[in-house]
Amino acid sequence: MEIRLAEDLMDANNRVAAKLKSHLSKKGILTLNFLSSPGAGKTTLIEKTLQRLKGLAKTAVIVGDVQTSRDKQRFEEGGFDAVQINTEGGCHLTAPMVEKALDSLELDALEILFIENVGNLVCPAGFQLGEDMKVVLLSTTEGDDKPGKYPAAFFSAQAMIITKIDLLALTNFDLDFAKKDALRINPKLKIFEVSSLKGEGMVDWVDWLLHRAKRKRRDLKLPDGCTL
Ligand code: MG
Ligand code: ZN
Repeated sequence: MEIRLAEDLMDANNRVAAKLKSHLSKKGILTLNFLSSPGAGKTTLIEKTLQRLKGLAKTAVIVGDVQTSRDKQRFEEGGFDAVQINTEGGCHLTAPMVEKALDSLELDALEILFIENVGNLVCPAGFQLGEDMKVVLLSTTEGDDKPGKYPAAFFSAQAMIITKIDLLALTNFDLDFAKKDALRINPKLKIFEVSSLKGEGMVDWVDWLLHRAKRKRRDLKLPDGCTL
């Protein structure tokens, strides 16, 4: 009975997600759903990505946390459009939450929508939000053994970003092991190694993102010299 109820809830969520995906796709908006454990650097990565996309793509962020508007404030201080969702105890975002948040955004002007999920590597993997793709973050400070421990997050993502790569030498994180473990679960996973704060790896990530956005919207500009 409990399992049946959970399946019904998931079905209801995924029906709303399918509607959102079709709506966002018709408008040519590339939508990304960012997953990671708390503290892996989702907000910082998105902030630094938005800075690099200035003048190249029109962006907005929907950010989910259990409580507080701290992340929304950070985005707004950087001059970016952001909507905060507080789940009030919920450990993941749902499609109806995103549907409501979309009311606060000017969708006709939008080209890339970033959805920062609640920090949690478990259930966000199972809830579609209308995204084109999930992006999973794994930081060098949280350990190289996470892909095998939380396979659904890595299986459901199209890209994995290994964050805090500048701290690699200070940790016992085995980069090769982490990448192999993730690729064993999902051989198609595109992997980036990034330091959001120091800038390492950001050009490749942003170029990759812009090319995906361009596929959805042909009039999007690409940076000079972009070769990907
Ligand atoms: Mg955050
Ligand atoms: Zn959850």
